[in-house]
Amino acid sequence: MLQETNLIFDDIKKDFPIFKNSELVYLDSAASAQKPLCVIDKIHDLYSNNYSNVNRGVYKLSQILTDKYENSREIVKNFLNANLSSEIIFVRGATEAINLVANTVGKLNIRKNDEIILSRLEHHSNIVPWQILADMNSAVIKVAEPDIYGNITLESITKLISSNTKLISLTHVSNAIGTILPIKEICKEAKSRGIITLIDGCQAAPHMKIDVKELNCDFYVFSGHKTYGPTGIGVLYGRKELLEDAPPYQGGGDMIDKVTFEKTTYAPLPHKFEAGTPNIIGAIVLGEAITWMHKIGIENINNHLKKVTDRGLKILKNIKGIQIIGEIENRAGVISFLYKDSHPHDIATMLDTYDIALRTGHHCAQPTMQFFNVSSTLRASVGIYNSEQDFIKLEECIDKIKNMI
Ligand code: PMP
Repeated sequence: MLQETNLIFDDIKKDFPIFKNSELVYLDSAASAQKPLCVIDKIHDLYSNNYSNVNRGVYKLSQILTDKYENSREIVKNFLNANLSSEIIFVRGATEAINLVANTVGKLNIRKNDEIILSRLEHHSNIVPWQILADMNSAVIKVAEPDIYGNITLESITKLISSNTKLISLTHVSNAIGTILPIKEICKEAKSRGIITLIDGCQAAPHMKIDVKELNCDFYVFSGHKTYGPTGIGVLYGRKELLEDAPPYQGGGDMIDKVTFEKTTYAPLPHKFEAGTPNIIGAIVLGEAITWMHKIGIENINNHLKKVTDRGLKILKNIKGIQIIGEIENRAGVISFLYKDSHPHDIATMLDTYDIALRTGHHCAQPTMQFFNVSSTLRASVGIYNSEQDFIKLEECIDKIKNMI
């Protein structure tokens, strides 16, 4: 593991071609992370030299690629500290993972008057699939509210639990304001009451060590493109027994054992949930991205991102006219804010002229915005390549535009 974090992270930025000869300050990693050269090169290399379909060919090329694909599943298994690689399902992203669980495990276990607990801080991806399920099966959604600062407590969840609660689905880290939820404590409580848990780890997986055994959750999902990997690939971790009991999500090639018109039987995990040709290269390259993260050290990444976020928060708080949305206790990598009474889009557009990339809008978290009585915010979110310097430039540029608004 590498030691001198600051120096190392200056060097790590050089791994990203997008920053070469560029003044770009990229503060939108919560939307999607930039890609290191090893990820970009790996895509090029695989399509150039080592491409075929997987799970089919008897020829060497296909066997080699199938091994690489399965090896990536092993890398993801270790990344999440799951028990079995068959508990790792490759999907398109977190959105598909949550829809998969809602349509399989959800449909099987959640019936009329059963209750699903969500929090107000969820991304729309962790709201809408449950609403569709609840509408179909006449189930009920209950929403845990944050305190005025944007913290979700264990108590805000436990007070909603009843004998009808079948599932709790929560984000690990809010993509809109950065709150870290007390997931371990919540999963412990849920487990003791036999309630299924799903954790949306989109904003946590790029930032901190994830250990699904320690969290003791039933499902954990994340998107590859936020963990420095390609788009179109994501991960669903699911507890073996729950995945085995559930019906398949999609039918087609690769997910079957035997097909007749009378009856079809399904392949064992994980293939039962991977119908059709998967995103082969995406999955393998996600493994490459995770291996690259491990080389830096997840602990080092976590410390660096915490440091940059803390400094960024201090710098922003010192700027006259900035209002931080969500004065939370435990924050990971995301700072939402407003500037004076200007529309966030106007500010972001002006900052873009100085090569500062910030997200504005509702961040696919309209209920969170409603809670804070705003329709949109500016959002600065950090990745491995960011440093305090980026927030200093942000401060300087806000100073430059202050008289234009
Ligand atoms: N959940 C959270 C917390 C997110 O931040 C995102 C992406 N913004 C998603 C879910 C959806 O991820 P994707 O669009 O990659 O499926």
